[in-house]
Amino acid sequence: MRNLLGLQPLTLGILALGLAACGTQAQRPPSIVLVVADTLRADRLGVYGHEGQLTPFIDSLASEALVYENARSVSSWTAPSMASMFTSLYPSQHGVVTGFSLSMANAANKGGAMINRIPATVESLPEALRAAGYRTFGVADNPNIVSQLGFERGFDRFHASNYEGAEAVNAAALQWKSEIQSPEPFFLYLHYMDPHQPYHPRRPWFAFDEREIEGAPADEDGTPMGFVSEAGLRAVHIRRVIEGAQDAQEIEARLAYGVDLAIAAYESEIRYLDEHVRQIFEQLALDSETVVVFVSDHGEELGEHGSIGHPFKLYDELLSVPLILRLPPKFNRAGRINGLTSIMDIHPTLLEIAGISADSALAGKSLLGPMDGSEERELLAMRTHERAIDTHKLEALLSGGSKLIISSTSETVEFYDLSSDATEQHNLAAAHAAKAEQFKARLSAMQASLTTFEREFIDLSLDENFDQMMRDLGYLGDGE
Ligand SMILES: [Zn+2]
Repeated sequence: MRNLLGLQPLTLGILALGLAACGTQAQRPPSIVLVVADTLRADRLGVYGHEGQLTPFIDSLASEALVYENARSVSSWTAPSMASMFTSLYPSQHGVVTGFSLSMANAANKGGAMINRIPATVESLPEALRAAGYRTFGVADNPNIVSQLGFERGFDRFHASNYEGAEAVNAAALQWKSEIQSPEPFFLYLHYMDPHQPYHPRRPWFAFDEREIEGAPADEDGTPMGFVSEAGLRAVHIRRVIEGAQDAQEIEARLAYGVDLAIAAYESEIRYLDEHVRQIFEQLALDSETVVVFVSDHGEELGEHGSIGHPFKLYDELLSVPLILRLPPKFNRAGRINGLTSIMDIHPTLLEIAGISADSALAGKSLLGPMDGSEERELLAMRTHERAIDTHKLEALLSGGSKLIISSTSETVEFYDLSSDATEQHNLAAAHAAKAEQFKARLSAMQASLTTFEREFIDLSLDENFDQMMRDLGYLGDGE
């Protein structure tokens, strides 16, 4: 979809050199930092072509890193995506497809509060790294990245919070500064939430004309509600749009203004996040010998298909993510890779760097392998909504610059040519019916070939802290 700056994909052959150097200098594998920026679209980073200078620090990291131009998530919200990043399995394989939303379906259905979690029989990334001698630290600011879903497994130290912001994430990591800085290799996972709704206008980077919403109701902290969420936009701004507008053209103009407000706040959150990633790198003195992965769990829709957020859809603004891998200088590898890659590839890549042999059954593959486009990659994406009465599934197949999206509750088939229609506005399912049928058959065959693990559930209501937990989470929806 993107072919940025006209740079050439890396030639191969340097890889062997880098890995050999890794083995000769010391037996000790390099320390690793995995930075996950929740809900960050790839196209908002300078290194992916954005001109708003939202990510000066990440861009500077990327200038000496491998930058994967066509990276995709496997789903459009956190729980399945992160379980896939940690296990290198598709959501249909590890079974973490609904996270906390299942608790509501089952609370009505069974009287309990069941959630699905990463099966104990699957070794997650932090578990594999700890078993190989890494000291492991994790801070996650997303309410789905919690011990109940199995995400704390493999971490010596794990801190979970519910959207307290980048400053709090950094403060949590800094508690362990002396441990992190001791000589043995470490794995540090930092999961920032800031680009996620509600969007806070982060000053001084939020620069938008606010006069239009004077008089709008404010949150407790004084933030005009029109800025902070899709719900806020709907409830406040849209009402004002309808009430105040003279005609359809004016309504259109005011709606567009509301979207612009949301985007300005979203972008200010990204700039705020970038600044805090810079700060933690400085505070922990993370040098060029540290392997860095920068990625997002999914993107964000900013009006392309009628909404703002990451609702029940699988369009590319939700699947396309930044993926940046900075290796120590001795690897001698940097540049841009145009082939299709997945967030599931991070797990086998880091195992390879750590000198651990990966399970051949993993769905992802090492990002250090051939990425010259000679091997055609096919990737699936999926999103599931399990309710007490039924299950609704969306599935997508990306292959050769085309994309199929099918829904379990609709006869509608969507088929897009991403090379000419990157934002998926023109459904070619009728015009290219034969090809769309081929994709449908291929998607079914790929799904059928995947090894699935028995889904694992726990009943949260058995936890004596359940009520407090639900209160602390502050929501009972799927959280996304
Ligand atoms: Zn997320």
